[in-house]
Amino acid sequence: MLGFATEQGSATAHTAILARALGLPAVVGIAGLVDAVEDGQAVLLDGDEGTLVIDPSADLVATVRPPADAASDAEPAITRDGRRIEVGCNAAGVDDARRAAAAGADGIGLLRSEFLFLGSDRLPSEDAQVAVLEEVTAAMGERPVILRTLDVGADKPLPALPQPHEVNPALGVRGLRLQLLRRPDLLLDQLRAALRVSARHPLRLMFPMVSTLDEVRQAKVLLEQARRDVTPSPADGTGMQVGIMIEVPAAAIAADVLAAEVDFFSLGTNDLTQYLFAADRTNPELAPLADSLHPALLRMVDQVVKAAHRRDRWVGVCGEMASDLSAVPLLVGLGIDELSVHPPAVARVKALVRRLEVAECTRVARAALELDSGAAVRGLLEQEGL
Ligand code: PEP
Ligand code: MG
Repeated sequence: MLGFATEQGSATAHTAILARALGLPAVVGIAGLVDAVEDGQAVLLDGDEGTLVIDPSADLVATVRPPADAASDAEPAITRDGRRIEVGCNAAGVDDARRAAAAGADGIGLLRSEFLFLGSDRLPSEDAQVAVLEEVTAAMGERPVILRTLDVGADKPLPALPQPHEVNPALGVRGLRLQLLRRPDLLLDQLRAALRVSARHPLRLMFPMVSTLDEVRQAKVLLEQARRDVTPSPADGTGMQVGIMIEVPAAAIAADVLAAEVDFFSLGTNDLTQYLFAADRTNPELAPLADSLHPALLRMVDQVVKAAHRRDRWVGVCGEMASDLSAVPLLVGLGIDELSVHPPAVARVKALVRRLEVAECTRVARAALELDSGAAVRGLLEQEGL
């Protein structure tokens, strides 16, 4: 099987995310790689271990087994003491949705709608978006799909929508900010497309890169406008759940305020970690700093879950952390309701959830919140056999 290795990037940057979704072996952020390897040289890559061996010996190559096909598991993931954890998938296209369905995912917890806009120098019409969303939702049958509105900018540029240069693009006009500040017409097209599909399918809507309550309210005003355009009667199409990503620390800290305005939260731990530790997620040198098992991040998750549950809102995690088997017991212990993972991880995560006991996970997660480093949290998990 083929794979790839890069000198730049980190485990939560988009190259690695796409590789995982496709089940492609990849190792990213290997310092000095380009100088160390020559054209045509044989290398042996292990994406699970994160290793690359240059000129491997015949004996070593003989030990390699092709990866088994990812298992499928469509049964609910219920802990030993009876708590159901929804295990959905992240998807960035119709093929991903088919992989998610085949893997037995409970839904699509994050449909990265950027894919609708990539690969063309023209923006898609509302009708074109409806056609693709219909294909995605058809693949999932009755299972819910969470459509995230366009999240471009920073490490996700969009050729069809060139933006002026920014000195700090990760802190710039990206995600929801772009539509609210510059292109509400784009958001309206997406919202109308979503509303049309939601009339036939349990489609949910999610806004990315929210920092303030005011942004949520502005987005909801546009949603109302789209609803008036689409539905003959304003009472139609009101059942669509509307949520936001929690990926900016200001939103996490004000989660109690934001919970009043939405039906659910999904923690975008890739960006939340980047912004919390002020560590660029594409910079391999900073990858150890942006540690999602660090108690500072866990405390933030804890605060968001408590704020949401106080208002009976559900909370998911759609960042890479949800697919990390060492993080899952902590997330369950902190009260997370849904995990949105890569298609190849569905069966593994569901199997793990079934081995867990909420009471034990809660005790360990509470202890983790009091520790002083990610390494200490890993040590605790090991000690507890989790
Ligand atoms: C995240 O930030 O955790 C997330 C899921 O969104 P993306 O990786 O697309 O920025
Ligand atoms: Mg993000």
